[in-house]
Amino acid sequence: MSNSPLATVTQISPNRNSPRNHKIDRITIHCFVGQVTARRGCEVFQPASKKASCNYVVGYDGSIGLCVDEGDRSWCSSSPANDHRAVTIETASDNKHPYAVTEKAYAALLDLVTDICRRNGAKKLLWFGDKDKTLAYTPQAGEMVMTVHRWFANKACPGDYLYGRHGEIAAEVTRRLDEEDDEMSYEQFKQYMSQYRKELQDNDCGEWSKEAREWAIQVGLFAGNGTTSDGQPNMMWQDQLSREQAAQLFYRFAKNNGLA
Ligand SMILES: [Zn+2]
Repeated sequence: MSNSPLATVTQISPNRNSPRNHKIDRITIHCFVGQVTARRGCEVFQPASKKASCNYVVGYDGSIGLCVDEGDRSWCSSSPANDHRAVTIETASDNKHPYAVTEKAYAALLDLVTDICRRNGAKKLLWFGDKDKTLAYTPQAGEMVMTVHRWFANKACPGDYLYGRHGEIAAEVTRRLDEEDDEMSYEQFKQYMSQYRKELQDNDCGEWSKEAREWAIQVGLFAGNGTTSDGQPNMMWQDQLSREQAAQLFYRFAKNNGLA
């Protein structure tokens, strides 16, 4: 199981169970209650006496730290059952209601959650906003479900600032995963490229270049590609010119003028 390449700090906490006993199909975002960097946040979970940890810390400056391997269960959400299947993320926040996070932390959080979904095969991040419905739900293949600490303990976590944005986070992450799904392969790109060039390979051209085009044909620089388009020699005016073709053009020009 991999960890996020977005993490620039790694400080593994002893407060964990290795390995986790359930496939990752949840993400639980927490508020750290303090505007810390990822490094400082991870440090807090280093003493065994702390008896707490998380998989990742997102700092107020957008830094990301790995505190417990994704393959292991963190001690984060007051629910072993949740934490065995969730990737838990502590996000640097103000230390009072509504536990706001910085823009940088929020942006890094979106990147991290997207990365966690992608690496764990999720195409969709779901937020139901309802404890009973969520805990009773069995995620389908390709689904990742968001849960919150306040469902498992008498806590405000993740704070109203982040809690109120859970729908937005789920929508934005799903949108990003969708977009990646649409990314074309190299083979498709080449196919589209040749399709696009075919479109350009006819006699369409601008009026502004008329004099030059007529001259180029007349002196024998351009002869078209040997096929016809609309009954005319196909000059492919708007297609790309390769370096090879440029050399041939200059050479023809030089020959015609006794320069080569
Ligand atoms: Zn929490």
